[in-house]
Amino acid sequence: MSGLKMPEANRDVLSRRAEIVSALRAIVPGEGVIDARTEMRAYETDALTAYRQMPLVVVLPETVEQVSRVLRYCFDNGIKVVPRGAGTSLSGGALPLEDGVLLSMMKFNRVLDIDYSNRAVVTQPGVTNLGITRAVEHEGFYYAPDPSSQIACSIGGNIAENSGGVHSLKYGLTTNNVLGLEMVLITGEVIRLGGKHLDAEGYDMLALMTGSEGLLAVVTEVTVRILQKPETARAVLVGFATSESAGRCVAEIIGAGIIPAGMEMMDRPAIHAAEDFVHAGYPLDAEALLIVELDGPEAEVDHLLGEVAAIARRNGCTSSRTSTSEAERATFWAGRKAAFPAVGRISPDYLCMDGTIPRKALPEVLSRMQDLSKKHGLRVANVFHAGDGNLHPLILYDANKLGELDAAEAFGADILRLCVHVGGVLTGEHGVGVEKRDLMGEMFNEIDLAHQMRVKCAFDDRQLLNPGKVFPELHRCAELGRMHVHAGALPFPDIPRF
Ligand SMILES: Cc1cc2nc3c(=O)[nH]c(=O)nc-3n(C[C@H](O)[C@H](O)[C@H](O)COP(=O)(O)OP(=O)(O)OC[C@H]3O[C@@H](n4cnc5c(N)ncnc54)[C@H](O)[C@@H]3O)c2cc1C
Repeated sequence: MSGLKMPEANRDVLSRRAEIVSALRAIVPGEGVIDARTEMRAYETDALTAYRQMPLVVVLPETVEQVSRVLRYCFDNGIKVVPRGAGTSLSGGALPLEDGVLLSMMKFNRVLDIDYSNRAVVTQPGVTNLGITRAVEHEGFYYAPDPSSQIACSIGGNIAENSGGVHSLKYGLTTNNVLGLEMVLITGEVIRLGGKHLDAEGYDMLALMTGSEGLLAVVTEVTVRILQKPETARAVLVGFATSESAGRCVAEIIGAGIIPAGMEMMDRPAIHAAEDFVHAGYPLDAEALLIVELDGPEAEVDHLLGEVAAIARRNGCTSSRTSTSEAERATFWAGRKAAFPAVGRISPDYLCMDGTIPRKALPEVLSRMQDLSKKHGLRVANVFHAGDGNLHPLILYDANKLGELDAAEAFGADILRLCVHVGGVLTGEHGVGVEKRDLMGEMFNEIDLAHQMRVKCAFDDRQLLNPGKVFPELHRCAELGRMHVHAGALPFPDIPRF
């Protein structure tokens, strides 16, 4: 693995591998335990393919009882556990550990209950995001958060990453659409949070768990809110001669009080890559493209389309095309949703970054990104959720060329520092994982991080669940109680810094 430092492997666990495998086989019989290297190869990385590591063993439980017993066994024997859904994480959240059990939740693949009167679906965590919509669409319902990976990614992974999508601008991220969870703690205890009802007493543990990146518990059941499909949805493609004018148009639309169902921006390299791949009819002469979708009652959509067109004209748009059918609307989105694989066709490798900035900083950040592209000698293609300021710069590199991965990582780190510098945050929707772990110090000071770590310790004081992710260093949980930071001096210098 490049220069990425992970927690040191436990030699005792490595030497007991055969005994551990047979103990796990006793809990999950049949084909639920994979220990052959060739078969484990499929699990050695997630969608952050720059990093790879074979796990100690892969376990695929089918029941909550099996999950509970596996976790209890690992707890009792000091064995690390990395939960995994579909493995589409772009931040390396599901990257295995040499001395850790990789716990795949993909056999939990059933929708358990569809409750239209409560507008809720109860599902197992391995069901895909799109699978939930597929289960209810014949009744005119859908699940709103729609990551571009929705055909593959699991709802359990969505919970762990607090995933979003093009419709999150209006309908919220995963955290705004999850109603309840069943989770298994590292001790094997099963807890339930929330349910079909709207509010719960006490601390908002549901929000704490959503986005916890597999560090606090393993999700075994999810209850989500479903929505009725809007009467009408239409999308408009608007081309601009500069990213600055497209950025101003975005700000003016939101400033006018219009909340589109989605508002996405792509720059010239991304437009060309997507158009070559999907033939969505994107304007190839544009430097920046906005895809704006409006939904609701037909009369309202017609009115808002007129408003958006007027704002786009005021900002000097060079082209504008509104969808006239459902098929055409889907084609407009197909290019955007396939933008990542499309960019994969024009470069052997790419790093997909994920940061969020205040909308008004968009023109400045885009122009600074061009300077960074020259500094690091690598191309960048931009695809982003313009409405909520969530950037996805795709840094193009070739892993086979000496030094290019290091240059891409340095470029990515500079982009994330820039996001923080203009008042934004390190992550939007892809989580911290290993990708942004070492940059957490750019956003949080030692005291902030120590408090976040205390939450981790409350659930997993032996630090067995997904260690090496999110936190840039390990603190022994007992020592956090005595932690005191003086004049920025790093406490406990003997504790591993990754
Ligand atoms: C082409 C492409 C496009 C993408 N587009 C988007 C996008 O538009 N928006 C977006 O938000 N993301 C996007 N992603 C990122 C990714 O799809 C999401 O982060 C997704 O939620 C990951 O789900 P997964 O099932 O693949 O999880 P995995 O990759 O398997 O795991 C992700 C994290 O979740 C944890 N985890 C998984 N299952 C569980 C569980 N049951 N219990 C506890 N922890 C668990 C893992 O430990 C890990 O930390 C994209 C990825 C790709 C490859």
